Amino acid sequence: MNTNPIPTKSSTLEQRLSLLGQNLSIAYRDPLKIVRGEMQYLYDDEGRQYLDAYNNVAHVGHCHPRVVKAGQDQMARLNTNTRYLSDLINEYAGRLIATFPPTLNKCFLVNSGSEANELALRLARTHTRARDLIVLDHAYHGNTTTMIDISPYKHDGPGGSGPPSWVHKVPLPDLYRGPYPADDVDAVYKYSQHVIEVIERLESRSLCGFIAESMPSVGGQIVLPAGYLNTVYSAVRDSGGVCIADEVQTGYGRIGTHFWGFESYEVVPDIVVLGKPIGNGHPIGAVVTTTEIAGSFANGMEFFSTFGGNNVSCAIGLTVLDTVLEEGLQTHARSVGSVLLERLRKLMSQHKIIGDVRGSGFFLGVELVRDRESREPATLEATAIVNKMRDEAVLLGTDGPFHNVLKIRPPMPFNEADADRLVETLDVALRTL
Ligand code: PMP
Repeated sequence: MNTNPIPTKSSTLEQRLSLLGQNLSIAYRDPLKIVRGEMQYLYDDEGRQYLDAYNNVAHVGHCHPRVVKAGQDQMARLNTNTRYLSDLINEYAGRLIATFPPTLNKCFLVNSGSEANELALRLARTHTRARDLIVLDHAYHGNTTTMIDISPYKHDGPGGSGPPSWVHKVPLPDLYRGPYPADDVDAVYKYSQHVIEVIERLESRSLCGFIAESMPSVGGQIVLPAGYLNTVYSAVRDSGGVCIADEVQTGYGRIGTHFWGFESYEVVPDIVVLGKPIGNGHPIGAVVTTTEIAGSFANGMEFFSTFGGNNVSCAIGLTVLDTVLEEGLQTHARSVGSVLLERLRKLMSQHKIIGDVRGSGFFLGVELVRDRESREPATLEATAIVNKMRDEAVLLGTDGPFHNVLKIRPPMPFNEADADRLVETLDVALRTL
């Protein structure tokens, strides 16, 4: 038994700063030392409870007992790789595939969203024998070298050195802050035209694809305008490319109306990338694609991931999926999310600083502006609000190119009482500005 005294919060911080890389960020002005989690609540080292309104990884709830038990039981039984036959991986893959439209019927398992996006890009390139990729401005797809290359949020940000020549950035179709706002009747046409112009500029058959989050999150909790993906997908496919949907943040019923974000636009991607929620905190990433694309990828080079698809990950992944379905969490996100959205919109009528409230289910954004006319981002104010909320034991984050959008993406058990607590605390915090 470890008999060393538990380090105080300040010594934990001090040790961390001396031991870990400095660019690991720490949330909040007064950092939190979280020691325990239970469903939508987190507890600090002094036993204080916080309402978690933005950690979407703990999808079915922090330390959901059923998920914990599945992991513990499987750890005690076997944990090895995909080179042995296993009914568990078959069951998980089958159950996962069953949540997709019928053309998406082949699954690969990896260990993170970044790895899944890397694999998606390899699949797209092998299938199309092409290299160039179209990405949305402000997008984030992961932390590996190639994912930084395709993530304007990183390569155009501090420390970044821009995109390589094979990455083509198009404007984020943001009807609030983008170049073509909601009152421009041709906005959707204009946004999709940027993709078509890139395709026209490229040499024939050099485009491997287009990647977008179904609802861009670091872009500012953006809901894509209706019709955009339909036009873009058909232009990309006409030029020989494939369409990749990054569902790392939006999948598993989070948006309430649909199980997958892309379904809300009535499109079917060629490759779908999954991460964060599917392991409820255990590192699992997945790629789901068509028979044809998986077939092209099986070109003789073996695909193997040491940990991807291991027995413990499959047991956990399967239990998370069962829990989402059996606890009716998508319907729950839809009903509580719409109540929350309505209350946030009501708050907008009392606080001029709220420029926009948007989203679906438990994927919501509150954009703060200094002036509703000019839409000047209220970045410092957003940081102050998030810190004030933290002091009042409600955890939120900021997002968007100007970090002025409050992101609300709670664990799915978040209930109406939690929604009341969030809105009431936010109301008070906004009054103190
Ligand atoms: N895609 C999206 C949309 C993400 O938000 C993230 C992580 N924030 C990733 C990919 C990368 O996932 P991971 O951190 O698990 O590698």
